[in-house]
Amino acid sequence: MDQDNDANIRGFQPDFRWQDVERMPYKEEGSAPFKAISRQVLFADPALKCELRYFEMAAEGYSTLERHEHAHAVMILRGEGHCLLGDEVRPVKQFDLVNIPAWTWHQFRATKGAPLGFLCMVNAQRDRPQLPSEQDLAAMAANPRLAAFLKGAPAA
Ligand code: MN
Repeated sequence: MDQDNDANIRGFQPDFRWQDVERMPYKEEGSAPFKAISRQVLFADPALKCELRYFEMAAEGYSTLERHEHAHAVMILRGEGHCLLGDEVRPVKQFDLVNIPAWTWHQFRATKGAPLGFLCMVNAQRDRPQLPSEQDLAAMAANPRLAAFLKGAPAA
């Protein structure tokens, strides 16, 4: 294989890694609440104006609870867990698709004692996520459909 193809074709490797793709921290430490989650940027070609990333959380890990103007297109690729989307919590499993519309609160949690990994397509240029205020959090915690999830223990 010539050098160009080495850059264009990246083999899938054990433990949900891809050849020559760096596994990075999810976000800057201290920038927002999250736990035990990593990020791999799979595609970021400026001509596409989007990025495809793979995020993976270890058992009991979670992504940041956030919302923003840009949308996400998510496919669960590894394991199962739960997803908060708007005012609902749903179980998610391998190959499920999750569409996250603009300004919708969202968070993924690896609730099944095993890793949860997902592909996420997003605009290359995008607004910064908003974190919930104390008031937002209180309102979400008062919703019985969200309360257990927010404490890290959603019903099956
Ligand atoms: Mn997001």
